[in-house]
Amino acid sequence: MVRKTLIAGNWKMNELLSDGIALAKGVAEENKKATRKDCEILICPPFTLLMAIKKAIRGSKVMLGAQDCHFAEKGAHTGDISPEMLKDLGCQYVIVGHSERRTNHKESNALIAKKAEAAIRAGLKVIICIGETEAEKNAGKTIEVCRNQIMGSVPTASTAANTVIAYEPVWAIGTGRTPTASEVEEVHAAIRQIIASKLGRANANKMRVLYGGSMKPNNAKSLLSLADVDGGLIGGASLKVADFMAIAAASKQ
Ligand code: PEP
Repeated sequence: MVRKTLIAGNWKMNELLSDGIALAKGVAEENKKATRKDCEILICPPFTLLMAIKKAIRGSKVMLGAQDCHFAEKGAHTGDISPEMLKDLGCQYVIVGHSERRTNHKESNALIAKKAEAAIRAGLKVIICIGETEAEKNAGKTIEVCRNQIMGSVPTASTAANTVIAYEPVWAIGTGRTPTASEVEEVHAAIRQIIASKLGRANANKMRVLYGGSMKPNNAKSLLSLADVDGGLIGGASLKVADFMAIAAASKQ
C-alpha cells in the first residue's frame, strides 16, 4: 500500500511577518531544488501569517495549513476562525486536537470531532492529533489512550482522502525525547487497527499516520522508515529551513 509521505511543519505561536516570510520562502526554494523522491510538504503558520505565507509559497508545491479552527461556518464567535475562512484563504489542511490545545484550552474529543467534521465540510484535509502523556505511558495505557482519542475525536465523515492522524506522545513534544523505533512501530500498527475498526479496512490501509514529537534531522530516517509511519508532524525543527528540509530528505519516498 503506497501512502504518500507528508512532512508537516507546525510553527505554533512563532514568527513575525518578515521572519515568517523568509522561512516559508526558504522552504519553497529548497523544496524546488530537492532531489529526493516526491513527498508532500506542508507548513502551518499562525493565523496572522497565513495570507503572507500564501503569497510567499506561490508557484511552489509547498502546501498551506492552519493550526486550529472553530466548528461553525460563521457567527458570534469572537476571536475564532472558521474552516470556511481557512479554505477561502487558500489553506488545504488544518490541524485539530493538538495536545497543546487539548491541555491549554481543555479541548475534548467531542469538540475535536466537531472541528474535524467542520473542516471536512469546508473542503479541508484535517490532521487529527492523538497521543498519551508520560503518566499514561508509564501506566501502560498508550494504546488505550489512542483508542479513546481516535474513537472520540475522529468523525464518521473521515476517510483516507480527507483525514490524517498524527501520533504525538505528549512527553516527546519539545523535549528532545522520542519513543524507540519499535515502540513507534507498535503504536502506529495499533492505530491502524483502531482506524480499521472505526472507518473500515480500506480507509485504514490508505490513511496516513504521522509521527510527531522531537523529530529532528538526526532521528528522522529511523522514524520515517518504519512501515506504518507515513510522515512527520514537526514543531521546533520546522522553524529552521535546513532542519525541516533535512527531515523531508530522510523520508522514504
Ligand atoms: C508538535 O508540537 O507538533 C511537535 C511535534 O513539536 P516538536 O517537534 O517540537 O516536538
